[in-house]
Amino acid sequence: TPLAVLASRIRLEEKLILSALEKRGAVVEVIDSRRQPFRLDGRELPYAGALSREISHTRNVYGTRLLEHAGLTVVNSYDIISLCGDKLLTALALQDARLPVPRAMVSLSPEHAVDGLAEFGFPMVIKPVIGSWGRLASRPKDREAAETLMEHRAALASPQYQVVYAQEYIDKPGRDIKAYVMGGEVVGVIYKVSDEWRTNTARTGRAERCDPSDELVKLLVAVADVIGEGVFGIDVLEDRDGRFYVNEVNHTPEFHGAVEVLDTDLVGAYADYVLRRLPS
Ligand code: ADP
Ligand code: ZN
Repeated sequence: TPLAVLASRIRLEEKLILSALEKRGAVVEVIDSRRQPFRLDGRELPYAGALSREISHTRNVYGTRLLEHAGLTVVNSYDIISLCGDKLLTALALQDARLPVPRAMVSLSPEHAVDGLAEFGFPMVIKPVIGSWGRLASRPKDREAAETLMEHRAALASPQYQVVYAQEYIDKPGRDIKAYVMGGEVVGVIYKVSDEWRTNTARTGRAERCDPSDELVKLLVAVADVIGEGVFGIDVLEDRDGRFYVNEVNHTPEFHGAVEVLDTDLVGAYADYVLRRLPS
């Protein structure tokens, strides 16, 4: 039975994963999430399981849920995608498990948020609870900057942008950590090095190999243990004293920068993991 891959755009990542799966003898069928109609009446889909590589968060959440409803195991699961797709829910889960996360506060509306933000303290990072590639993440340095940022937020139509999620700014040594963890195993770790404070490789971040300390590996395994059985790209911030803070968990990880600098075969490990979870 073929394996389904839910996706809309086929990027470099998807091409690499598809060819690694095929190289291992899997028959793979891409389901274009923009074109596939889904029926709710309990028809089983003829797949061994599904891998979700959908780029749109909304399509990813509903797509995985619909595939699970049709009887498929999906990597990653709906539960994981809906948890990790929301940075606030992720931080709460990690904090409940007493794992280190940046100090944070939430205001459920931008309208009266400024006093609370000023009391929380600058510099801070304010970011959408749902989003990627560093988009709309900002670092107001004083009350005036926070004030105009809140005015802009209030002017945005989407209800999701009315939630104000602020974190302490972690003063880092020009780089962050991104770790690839599959089935509870740390497969590869990189630094994202940048002159910008947002180090996303989709922006200006450059990947460098990182040999993780035992402490970091322990933290990463603990994070994966809280989130569940799946494939993750875990963002960790390290301050100048070497303390770690878990920033977010990417549930559909990008790895275009990592494959070039890691010794381990990240894509092969990804494909092996998927085939282990979804035997045909
Ligand atoms: P995204 O999902 O858009 O990658 P992130 O929360 O990872 O959202 O923020 C984007 C980037 O901004 C991070 O990779 C990191 O480089 C930087 N960043 C985010 N939050 C903080 C913070 N609290 N302190 C320092 N840098 C941060
Ligand atoms: Zn990130």
